[in-house]
Amino acid sequence: MRIPHVKLSSPFHLLAALWRALVNRLRGRKVVADKVLQWQRQVSCYSCVEYDPETTQCVVCSCFVPLKVMLTSEKCPLGRW
Ligand code: SF4
Repeated sequence: MRIPHVKLSSPFHLLAALWRALVNRLRGRKVVADKVLQWQRQVSCYSCVEYDPETTQCVVCSCFVPLKVMLTSEKCPLGRW
């Protein structure tokens, strides 16, 4: 069995994502995207050449796509969503 090579995000990148989500929460905004928005983002990512289905990561930002699409404060680094 082959173990996928997971690329780790830098700690700063992860902290920045959590910070953006916290700021949204403190401002009374939604933190978790609604299901339709999550689905639209997933469609974009799963059809993107930068998506690695083996690790479920975006090759550009190293984020885990199933988590990234859930947070309203996250954006595609290439501007696709
Ligand atoms: S976040 Fe953007 S660049 Fe990364 S896999 Fe999704 S659509 Fe592609």
